[in-house]
Amino acid sequence: MKKAVIALALAAAFGVANAAQDASTDIVIVGAGGAGLSAAVEAHDLGAKVIVVEKMAFPGGNTTRAAGGLNAASTPLQQAKGTYDSPEIMFYDTMKGGHWKNNPELVRYLSEHAKDSVDWLLALGADLHDVGLMAGASKPRTHRPTGGGLVGAEVVRALNAAAEQRKIDLRVNTRAEEILKNGKGAAAGIRVKGPQGEYTIHSKAVVIAAGGFGANNDMVAGYVPRLKGFSTTNHPGATGDGLLMAQKFGANLIDMKEIQTHPTVVPNGGEMITEAVRGNGAILVNAEGKRFYNELETRDNVSAAILKQTGKAAFLFFDSDMQKSLKATNNYIKQPYTVTGNSLDEIAAKMKVPADALKATMQEYGAAVSAKADKKFGRASLPRALNKAPFYAIKVTPAVHHTMGGIQINAKTQVFDKQGKVIPGLFAAGEVTGGVHGGNRLGGNAQADIVTFGHAAGEQAFIYSRLAK
Ligand SMILES: Cc1cc2nc3c(=O)[nH]c(=O)nc-3n(C[C@H](O)[C@H](O)[C@H](O)COP(=O)(O)OP(=O)(O)OC[C@H]3O[C@@H](n4cnc5c(N)ncnc54)[C@H](O)[C@@H]3O)c2cc1C
Repeated sequence: MKKAVIALALAAAFGVANAAQDASTDIVIVGAGGAGLSAAVEAHDLGAKVIVVEKMAFPGGNTTRAAGGLNAASTPLQQAKGTYDSPEIMFYDTMKGGHWKNNPELVRYLSEHAKDSVDWLLALGADLHDVGLMAGASKPRTHRPTGGGLVGAEVVRALNAAAEQRKIDLRVNTRAEEILKNGKGAAAGIRVKGPQGEYTIHSKAVVIAAGGFGANNDMVAGYVPRLKGFSTTNHPGATGDGLLMAQKFGANLIDMKEIQTHPTVVPNGGEMITEAVRGNGAILVNAEGKRFYNELETRDNVSAAILKQTGKAAFLFFDSDMQKSLKATNNYIKQPYTVTGNSLDEIAAKMKVPADALKATMQEYGAAVSAKADKKFGRASLPRALNKAPFYAIKVTPAVHHTMGGIQINAKTQVFDKQGKVIPGLFAAGEVTGGVHGGNRLGGNAQADIVTFGHAAGEQAFIYSRLAK
């Protein structure tokens, strides 16, 4: 007993192999964000034995940070609000938003199955009862908690509770370092480093759900040099490990230069202000107190427009009417980065923009709302005139937000090698994959992606594990 304790202590101190901890399972999953947890719950429910490894001290990853919502078309919740939508319209919006660079097979699967993901999450106890509009979507299809609450924390809460209820073996502080190959070239487990040192998890199938690389600025700038030194909205674990591991195993990576900046992030590494704020009515105003662009354009275009303004920044501007419409703003308005004014003069002084220009901007915007036509910038949705004090403004600038490229998969989440052949036993889902979002991701589509393809990965890995010899 004493010897074993000393061996574990040495292993932990020096990171040496500790075969005593080696484990065997049907399916091992790398990453306990939304994609990994979805795969784990589904595979377990089909009858597989599952181990999930998570390198951070707690599950959630970038999924926990998601604020705006989860897109799905033709849900009963949309229909209850009288919204006509369809998978075809979601497919068109997603392809157009991604500049038609997306893999249509994946977008078709996403558009047709996102509604099942909403049903599944509701059945697991998630609250996704509010439905709103996000930029680039032609219909309100963004599902989120009642009152417009934060979606990611709710999705992780529901999935993690489901994993706990099912007693799924989830190992935190455990980093996957390598995917293992058997004699037939199939993925057959992973090598990990946990609190007690290195060991091996043997498995019949491996699911990579380790997220993107937005927090690895060297890797980001390696693909897109102009993003060197940009701050990020991502959690610190989004360093691209899954991509690098899969690449080393022989997987093909696609669209790696497609990296999205989110236009509305508080400067110097601050908080991301969800797109739902613009969706519910906020406008963008520059240092001259003027609107300058259609706020509901896609993220790449809005980011580029902000970078052309004085100081490469702008203000998100909204009123109390918009604030009350979106629970997610309750926290924003308490933060020091938000300035508040009971009149346009007062807020203009705090924003340090010319008051006359701001008043003229708001008068012109109010007229556009009344006329239901934004002739100047072509904004399609004009839900409120923004004329109810108090007024709020938040200074924002773009930051690295989403890495659209990654492991090449098909709709069964099978991973391709560089020769276009499926790698046996290896599956991938979520931000670690490429092809779903093409050249630009629409807000709300990543949450749909991770649950839909995470669920599919659980199912496909289960089938493979039953067939594998
Ligand atoms: C601030 C913010 C707001 C967002 N808002 C929205 C939104 O409103 N709607 C929307 O659709 N999308 C949104 N997104 C995008 C979306 O949340 C992410 O793309 C998505 O959650 C990624 O899910 P995932 O499961 O693929 O990865 P993650 O949730 O990042 O999970 C991956 C997990 O893998 C772990 N991991 C990594 N490497 C290893 C390793 N070597 N070993 C073990 N574990 C490892 C990570 O620690 C992490 O926990 C937002 C993103 C951010 C950052």
